[in-house]
Amino acid sequence: MPHSGGGGSHSGGGHSGGGHSGSHSGGASNPVRSTYYPGASRYVYYHRGTPHYFYSNRDPRTNQNSVAAKIPTFIVMIIFLCIGLFAGASGFTAPKKLTTAVEKAPVIMDNDGLIDNSAALNTALKAFADKTGVVPIVATVHNEDWQGRYNTLESYAYDLYLNSCSDESHVLIVYSEPKTPDPQFNDWHWELMQGDDTDSILNEKVLKTFNSTLQAALTRRDKGVGDDVLEAFTAIEPLTMKPYVDTGILAFAVIWVAVIAFMFVATLKGVKTSKLQATAQPIALDAQEKTCEYCGGKYIPGTLTNCPNCGAAIVYYANEQAAQPSVNAAQPPVQPAGFEMGTPLNYTAPQPYQQPYPQQPYQQQPPVPPQVPPNGSPPPGGSTV
Ligand SMILES: [Zn+2]
Repeated sequence: MPHSGGGGSHSGGGHSGGGHSGSHSGGASNPVRSTYYPGASRYVYYHRGTPHYFYSNRDPRTNQNSVAAKIPTFIVMIIFLCIGLFAGASGFTAPKKLTTAVEKAPVIMDNDGLIDNSAALNTALKAFADKTGVVPIVATVHNEDWQGRYNTLESYAYDLYLNSCSDESHVLIVYSEPKTPDPQFNDWHWELMQGDDTDSILNEKVLKTFNSTLQAALTRRDKGVGDDVLEAFTAIEPLTMKPYVDTGILAFAVIWVAVIAFMFVATLKGVKTSKLQATAQPIALDAQEKTCEYCGGKYIPGTLTNCPNCGAAIVYYANEQAAQPSVNAAQPPVQPAGFEMGTPLNYTAPQPYQQPYPQQPYQQQPPVPPQVPPNGSPPPGGSTV
């Protein structure tokens, strides 16, 4: 169906059309949260030497399908990515001459008797049609011919296009003024109706020049209407059939692709986090971190046999295990081989730091106490990540 490519009137103001919009939605409840909620158990996993905590009411170790579960999401995102890339490509327009016009000769329908340069205008219209394959029709009417039957000249021009053309390769320019124009204010109107096939040739850039040239020429009122239309066709002659970039479409496509790419990366990160969470162990809600005596790395007693940061063997006291039970004992805490309740482990208690040389007089600090007290009272800490 043909559509308006612009229009105007003596009252000023033109019109044009077009636009884009898009929307998306999402979100689902995730059992994994960073803070406690009723029914949730606490878990710890180690990544890059540090413990990470989370709460879940579902055992994260059963989430074996986290990658597979995201495949539909990835497919949808790839489809949307392709849409964005196609939209971006369509922003680069390289017009091709149309070959679909059924009636190939331009037509001047001067019902109003206003065109006094028919020969020159016809030559210009024919040159335009030969170059582009878009066949122009220029029509003049009286306001009285359409007002009353149509609300706007655009509606009249739409019907006139359908009645005059059997293809989508024409461009129709309709000029209308009253039968007896008021010399103080000639209430003229014009409309450009273009077939769908002409969009790449009569594109945004070409139409902008055509419409502004015609509106300005008609407003000047220093020539005949036929000369004004001729001026508009002359103005777009250097622009037609030239490749051009539609910056609006291009900007839209760039933003679109950026958003999809961001979602893609975010989903990949989510999959990676799920895989790490699948290695988590349940711990007591009030389990406290301990500090590796060699490197200062943090860990939860009972979840590891070696420091997650430096790899040094962790030595547990017998009463530490009793003090820090794994209440969510879906699996028992990992214990060093040979562990027996109530017997001291093969462990040498750390000695207070020995000053290799006498203290300087100005050093007032007492010696640093051992970091692991023998009675196993939990150290401060246990922050949640
Ligand atoms: Zn360590």
